[in-house]
Amino acid sequence: MTDRIERVMVITAHPDDSEFGAGGTVARLVKEGREVTYVIATNGNKGSGDRTMTPERLAAIRMDEQRNAARVLGVAHVEFLGYPDGELEDTRDLRRDVTREIRRWRPDLVITMNPHRTYNLYASHRDHRTVAGVALDCVYPLARDHMSFPELMPEFEPHKVREVYLMQWENPHLVIDITDVMDLKLKALTCHGSQVGDFAGVETRIRERNAEIGKAQGYAYAESFDRIAMPR
Ligand SMILES: [Zn+2]
Repeated sequence: MTDRIERVMVITAHPDDSEFGAGGTVARLVKEGREVTYVIATNGNKGSGDRTMTPERLAAIRMDEQRNAARVLGVAHVEFLGYPDGELEDTRDLRRDVTREIRRWRPDLVITMNPHRTYNLYASHRDHRTVAGVALDCVYPLARDHMSFPELMPEFEPHKVREVYLMQWENPHLVIDITDVMDLKLKALTCHGSQVGDFAGVETRIRERNAEIGKAQGYAYAESFDRIAMPR
């Protein structure tokens, strides 16, 4: 991975998206000395089949689970934006909140989800598409231009992101070897107890998927992304 990256921000919709899509990459970036910050747009308060669960209780559980998973991977900061799960919209408020976090933590690299609808309905959940589209709009032009969101100034000065990785499984630009950190990714995923009831089944699926992604490059396990380099 590229040497000029010092700070990384992972912008996702739900607590657990980072670990599923990029947990190994995050673990590697941390081991290589990068500071990683998570920004999670929703509170994940709909993701339960338990009829006795309430949205308030679930939101609190999922924040704890996310903080624990972040700790396992060595993530430095976790920011929750608190929007309701399943209802994320591309609003001025969301764009301002994401812009503020980019300006606060000043990442060189932003990792986010995939803005496109695909036939993989889990991967292209509406909140995932929305958060990814908003993240790209905030990288350019909103975080960069001082006259966007004037209310953020002077506390949050403009910032230029250098690169973006988008979680991508079909013909990705970039395949990252996560073999050495696969155990950490799985350990972080176990923190999401409210989401991964049958962890053995989840582990099998994750191992199969990450092995499949790595196969062409000869990696035992890998994660994959499209990469956008911002012109200087
Ligand atoms: Zn999600």
